[in-house]
Amino acid sequence: MHRANPIVLVFRGHQLLVDAAGQPPAAALARPLADAVLRQLDFAAGDGRRCMTVEVGRDTEPPPPLAFQHLKSLLDSLSATTLALAARALELLEFDRAHRFCGACGAPTTLTTDPPARRCSAPDCGREHFPRVSPVVIVAVERGPEILLGRSPHFPPGLYSTLAGFVDAGESAEQAVHREIHEETGLRIRALRYFSSQAWPFPHALMLGYQAEYEAGEIVCAPGEIEDARFFHVDALPPLFPIRYAMANLLLRDFCLRHDRPWPPRPAN
Ligand SMILES: [Zn+2]
Repeated sequence: MHRANPIVLVFRGHQLLVDAAGQPPAAALARPLADAVLRQLDFAAGDGRRCMTVEVGRDTEPPPPLAFQHLKSLLDSLSATTLALAARALELLEFDRAHRFCGACGAPTTLTTDPPARRCSAPDCGREHFPRVSPVVIVAVERGPEILLGRSPHFPPGLYSTLAGFVDAGESAEQAVHREIHEETGLRIRALRYFSSQAWPFPHALMLGYQAEYEAGEIVCAPGEIEDARFFHVDALPPLFPIRYAMANLLLRDFCLRHDRPWPPRPAN
């Protein structure tokens, strides 16, 4: 145990307190924010250390030279260890905020630790509520040297990504992949294989990455959900990609490398 060295992660909404190097500061540097703390939880970091996550009010100013930065903007720069802690910390704060009352009987809940949970205070209920994880499938559909990419109406101009959607209750991840692709594009796919998973803490998704092959159908985009979807040749990919950390980026990278193309792709002449 490293009792003297807890990790402290301070959040203002989805923004994490970082130093000039974009890393969480030493706990002592965050002390000036003590009066602004709305909630705090501590949990085991996995290596024996304790990690404390703190939420401060939305109008809290960072003590110089520290700054608040959106966790999404830090995904590509934090170490895998720090990122995993920050993702867990943010999801626990969200859980704590959303489970103040028991969903079964409505009585107030109290926080418990190891594992973090909220327990109903009503003696005849006492139900324990645990942090929620929402599985999302995301899939790279390939047709020879082409990959299916689409864009939502809210994407920035030029950005395309692999298609994704939440797993429904009572559905397997594989069933969700087939359903989502058919709903969003009208296509049928085959040869589905699992790729990798990652936490996406905005607010509590677990991304399950898959690869599949095109089987049949013409693309018909789901109105309101998909603005455009098409097959892009490996030598003519769209100009903008999801951030490096994102599962869509990992799927695209794997697609390019399997076709002996560089990653990231060279800009077109
Ligand atoms: Zn209850």
